[in-house]
Amino acid sequence: MNEGIITAAYIIAGLLFIMSLAGLSKQDSAEAGNWFGIVGMAIALIATIANPSVTGVPLIIACMAIGGFIGIRLAKKVEMTEMPELVAILHSFVGLAAVFVGFNSYFDHSVLMMGAALTIHSVEVFLGVFIGAVTFTGSIVAFAKLRGIINTSALMLPQRHKLNLIAIIACIYLMVQFVQAGGATAPLLIMTVIAFVFGWHLVASIGGADMPVVVSMLNSYSGWAAASAGFMLGNDLLIITGALVGSSGAILSYIMCKAMNRSFFSVIAGGFGTDVHIASDVDYGDHIEITAEATADLLCEAKTVVITPGYGMAVAQAQYPVYEITRALQDKGIEVRFAIHPVAGRLPGHMNVLLAEAKVPYDIVLGMDEINDDFSKTDVVLVIGANDTVNPAAAEDPTSPIAGMPVCEVWNAKQVIVFKRSMNTGYAGVQNPLFFKDNTAMLFGDAKDSVEKIFKAL
Ligand code: NDP
Repeated sequence: MNEGIITAAYIIAGLLFIMSLAGLSKQDSAEAGNWFGIVGMAIALIATIANPSVTGVPLIIACMAIGGFIGIRLAKKVEMTEMPELVAILHSFVGLAAVFVGFNSYFDHSVLMMGAALTIHSVEVFLGVFIGAVTFTGSIVAFAKLRGIINTSALMLPQRHKLNLIAIIACIYLMVQFVQAGGATAPLLIMTVIAFVFGWHLVASIGGADMPVVVSMLNSYSGWAAASAGFMLGNDLLIITGALVGSSGAILSYIMCKAMNRSFFSVIAGGFGTDVHIASDVDYGDHIEITAEATADLLCEAKTVVITPGYGMAVAQAQYPVYEITRALQDKGIEVRFAIHPVAGRLPGHMNVLLAEAKVPYDIVLGMDEINDDFSKTDVVLVIGANDTVNPAAAEDPTSPIAGMPVCEVWNAKQVIVFKRSMNTGYAGVQNPLFFKDNTAMLFGDAKDSVEKIFKAL
């Protein structure tokens, strides 16, 4: 393949990636968006491998075959609820790759560089390694937190904001040293170690309920790490792809910050939302329990019902029976709608995907902002496996770790039924005062079993 064809292939792949992002932004065009991405990536890979200046093609193909095999196996096995963990660990690979590319680019003296070119190259190498190292360890911590291997508040050092600041200042100083020397091994190595620790600490100190923002932020960092690798390798497509991932991840982080009422800059700086302590010894009083049959009776007497699903619905795979009871209630002339919190579940849009899978019509699925004012006019709210996203402490208790996060204000309804298996806390590890309110009743058990029992009783 000659240079011209390769450049044309890269432009087509870049356009396909942009069309892929555009397609993925709407439910009905998402499948086409996926295909654009797949075709774009196939073209990009073929054009890169077919480039006459690329050596060691058999080795590249062998590595791709091994990586592809492992990737397909993992992707097939992974549950929907484990998707953010998979995404987090994949981001760590991008970060590590950028570190390797950076060191390779530094040690590779095949092209003699001087003056401005050397300065630009040194900055590229330094920044590429820095972003890659932060992304690598940050993503590993995100993975471990999402998997529950490490506690959300573990590894939090006192004065952590100051430590983060010192780490950044030290890295800037080392960068100046590195660039002035026209590349020097010691500052690069010291910065790499600091960046590894910094990435780890940055994500380790971010609170539980804020993890969705962290994951999208790391997504953005991994994009910038890829873009910097593109600069070092002189590969335009990698620069375009990295910039697309970096900027779309940054936009998603911004949207999520707004949804969570968090400052975008405090997310980038790390460690917000954890300056407060989780009060586990507060006595909220007693909770009331209810049976599936009594819930069915309440539903039959209602005129308006809102279903607020959360992570537990995904675990129980209760979306199908949930739609069955929705139709049964609609047949009785009862209005049923769904209230979706932006970070319900374990990935953005998780609940929308599950409900679409069960063929729930889009027009009865409303976002939190669209429906929050209607809870006071609702007879019965079914909270199916949601916890943090319906926690009144976010609105009422300024000392709560989730204070300020907008939540579905289900407690304003006449009656709330909470479906879960125990009194355990949700992802953020914060007790939920909703469970102890007078108008709340707990329906214990697996969400799918409970919904099926209600359907029978209806
Ligand atoms: P939570 O994670 O707060 O709570 C889920 C609840 O579901 C638990 O309290 C659990 O209680 C219950 N549950 C689990 N399995 C079952 C089951 N089989 N049947 C019935 N209930 C079950 O859920 P939310 O959706 O309200 O909140 C999402 C949380 O996850 C937020 O803190 C968010 O920040 C975080 N997060 C979100 C991401 C995203 O992108 N959406 C990504 C990463 C984190 P019990 O064990 O008693 O049954």
